[in-house]
Order: sequence, then structure tokens, then C-alpha cells
Amino acid sequence: MPEFQTSPGMRDILPPESARWRRFVQVFADVVETAGYGSVISPLLEDIAVFHRVGDATDVVTKEMYDFIDKGGRHIALRPELTASVCRAFVQHRPSTPWKVWYSGSQFRYEKPQRGRFRQFDQVGIEVLGADDPYLDVEVIWLGWQFYQQLGLRQVTLLLNSLGEPDDRARYVSALQAYFDANVDALSEASRTTLAKNPLRVLDSKRREDAPLIQSAPKIADFYSEAAAAHFQAVQDGLSQVGVPFTMDPTLVRGLDYYRRTTFEFQGGTLDSAQNALGGGGRYDGLVESLGGPPTAGIGFALGLDRTLIACDDEGVFPAVSAGVDVFVVDTTGGKEALHITTQLRVAGISADRAYDNRSMKSQMKGADRSGAAVAVIIGSNEIEQGVITVRPLRGNDIQFTVARHDLIESVKKVLS
Ligand code: AMP
Repeated sequence: MPEFQTSPGMRDILPPESARWRRFVQVFADVVETAGYGSVISPLLEDIAVFHRVGDATDVVTKEMYDFIDKGGRHIALRPELTASVCRAFVQHRPSTPWKVWYSGSQFRYEKPQRGRFRQFDQVGIEVLGADDPYLDVEVIWLGWQFYQQLGLRQVTLLLNSLGEPDDRARYVSALQAYFDANVDALSEASRTTLAKNPLRVLDSKRREDAPLIQSAPKIADFYSEAAAAHFQAVQDGLSQVGVPFTMDPTLVRGLDYYRRTTFEFQGGTLDSAQNALGGGGRYDGLVESLGGPPTAGIGFALGLDRTLIACDDEGVFPAVSAGVDVFVVDTTGGKEALHITTQLRVAGISADRAYDNRSMKSQMKGADRSGAAVAVIIGSNEIEQGVITVRPLRGNDIQFTVARHDLIESVKKVLS
């Protein structure tokens, strides 16, 4: 065992998996940029108060943050998520609204590592600030759905709920509190602790003993104001119109007080229930305000890259593909010719690799095989003498031929096409 290893919950992502990660982000960017979202690149570190301000009631913020005092005495945290940073950026730069942005990158949470749960993990996501339109909710959810479709996933389920307006939600929380208080003996130990902090979060419990009580708990839908009900109906109608199937889930709540109206979660069909949330989001108000900005409506989602790729593996879609090169240059005359030819090929936009250290012809040809190249370009003493280069197709039945040096690029292009 080597002396140094990655810390628990942290991983090295090596080729070809790393290329798959990059393609993942590219597919996401392609989907959301067609809808007018621009990318925002946020710092990995923020003043810890930014996260405390937005998430003081969550485990993510109270228990799982990586934080430290920097050399200037500032209390800093590695970001555990990006919504807070985006809202902080909105307040700092005051862009015109609606502000539609997307992001990708690593988040850090000191969690117990397991399958689909890491301490450094990647997310892609979008946020829109400054619009309350139910059809924006539809757009946002559709973009998430469309992304999963583009990856080829077919077993993703969309769960949908609305938390109503803040007043509706407050009345609902009181009713929930009264209900759970009256039945507290039937709750699991863990849920009793949750109840003391936030009755809504009890609905999140995945413990079997809590299921019957949660099943018969008061339903948020009975507390909607007229405006909240109309907004939610418009969202459902819009989703049907754009062909996104959804399942209503009245227990789908977000613990923070800021969440209101639409909430949603994308679940993978192949993962264990503890890690089957591929991504989720919803509407939030007050985040921008709590960071010193004007009252601003917001909606967004974050999708986990790691879990989504596990779902892709399970469904056999979006595989990792070795990058490979088009051409492998074999030079048995010392290596300078290979330097010249690879440079020429690369400048012409043809990907090319080569062998180093003046290996034998046999060893270089092995390298050509391993590289996945479609063509080997070979230069030895015979070729030098005759002023030609040998082009050997490595796939199919075409036989090798020689070309004049100045015809190399054209000939290689022909073989590759
Ligand atoms: P959240 O920001 O908690 O709403 O999470 C959004 C998505 O990020 C989840 O649905 C997961 O796919 C992913 N995620 C959250 N925490 C982790 C973690 N510790 N490891 C891997 N993925 C995670």
C-alpha cells in the first residue's frame, strides 16, 4: 500500500472516466445554453457566514462544512452547495433580471462516505433570480428532464410538490407539529429529534417505522391559498404540455424556511432509496434578501454528477469512452522525424501520438495498437532513403502504402474519412 492515499470520500478521477465527466458537463451546458442560461464560475471558498445565513437549520451547514480560519483571520468554508454563492453573487453584482445562470463544480460535505455519497462530489445546476412565473418553473424542470434524456437515462422519475406560500406553509407546519406531537410515541427516536427542530423534515424520514404516521399526516395541498393553488396548477399543466411526466409527492419538502411553492426531485430507478435522489430543486424566496439584496424570487436545481453516472452505468448508457488518437507515428530513426510529423499532423487538426525513447519497431507498433489509432504513420531508414512515409491502416483490410512527404496530410485525411 502506498504511503499516501486520497482522504476518505475523495477520489482521483482518471482517464477515461475524467473525459466522461467533461462530456457530462458539456451535455448539460448544451441543454441549458439553448434556453439562454450563462455560466457562472464561483469561488470554492466563501465567508462561512454566507452559508450560515441561508442554511442554519440544515445538517449540511451545521455539521458537514469544511471550514478554517485563513491567514487574514477570516472564517472561511469550502462551499457545500452553490445556490448560496449564486445569490451572494447576485447581491454583489446586481445583474438585470431575470438572471439565468448555470454552474458546474465540486462541493464539499463532511458526510459518511458510501456508494453515491462522497465528501467531494460534483454538481451541475441552474438558478434563475427575479421571476415568479409558473412557466419558468416548467422551463427549469424541463431542462433537468431534457438533460437526463440527452444522457440516455430512461428510468428517471420526477417527483413534484408545492409548499404553498409562506403563510400556507406556516399554517401547515403548525398542523404538522400538532399531529406529530399527538403521535410522538409512534415516531422513531431520530425523527423525534428532527421534530424538535423542524416538523417538516420528519416527512423526509426514510425509516420504516415512521412510514405509517407520515402516510396519514396532514397534507400540504389542504393548506394552499388560492394564489398558490393556481400557480401550482399552471406548473402541472405546463409540464403536461411539454411532455414531462411527473408523480405528485406531498411529502417532498425542503427543510429551509425559504422554500415555497414548487419543489421537485429527480429519482433514479436503479439506485437504493438512500441515494436515489439524482437531483432536486425548487422555488425559494428570501435567500437574496437574507444576503442583503432586495426581495427577489428564485428557483433552481442541483443535479449530482456522481449519482447520475452511477445511474448511467446501471442503465448501460453514456459510457466512458477512451479518447484515443487518430494517428500513431512510429519512427525507428531516432525520434526527430516523429517530432516533425506529429507536429504537422496536430497543426492540421489530426490527433496524433507517438512512441518515445527510441523503442524497437515491435514495441512502437504495440503502442500504436494501444493508442486506438486508426492509422500508423511509419518512418524508418528505407523511408528516409526514398523520401517517403509509410501509411498503415490499423483497422479493416486496407493495405499499407507509401506517400511522398508533402502528400502525407492529404493521404492520412483520406484514410481517416
Ligand atoms: P442537494 O444539494 O443536497 O439538494 O443535492 C443535490 C444532489 O447532489 C443530490 O441529489 C445528489 O445527487 C448530489 N449529492 C448531494 N450530496 C452528495 C454527496 N455527499 N455525494 C454525492 N452526491 C451528492
